[in-house]
Amino acid sequence: MGEYKRICNFCNKDFIAQKRTTKFCSHKCNARGYKLRKRLEQDEMFTENETVKMMLLKIIISIEGIEKALDLYGVKEQVSNDELLTPQKFCELMNIHRKTLTRMIQREEVEVTKIGSKIFINKNQLIINK
Ligand SMILES: [Zn+2]
Repeated sequence: MGEYKRICNFCNKDFIAQKRTTKFCSHKCNARGYKLRKRLEQDEMFTENETVKMMLLKIIISIEGIEKALDLYGVKEQVSNDELLTPQKFCELMNIHRKTLTRMIQREEVEVTKIGSKIFINKNQLIINK
């Protein structure tokens, strides 16, 4: 059994250890050192979590950005859909016959919006054709 001159990992005092692997001068320092190490490990984990938190925050912010963009897009779409009238509705509002509308469309007096095979007329055409 040898004697090893060591420096306590906790209190930094020189001490004589019986094992080369002994890191602390006393049980007290050992216990305190262990607690300190645990705390440091926890701090490290906390730091890690903070990093994760920041990452999540960035993701959330970007998702919110996308949602805001989608909201704006949705609102814009809603508005443009609201602005479109069916030919029937347009005729009703203009107090014209459906055939008159067909003629107007043929003469390009009315601007139409085609969605698939269906024809819609923008509300602004009401004002133009009043
Ligand atoms: Zn010590």
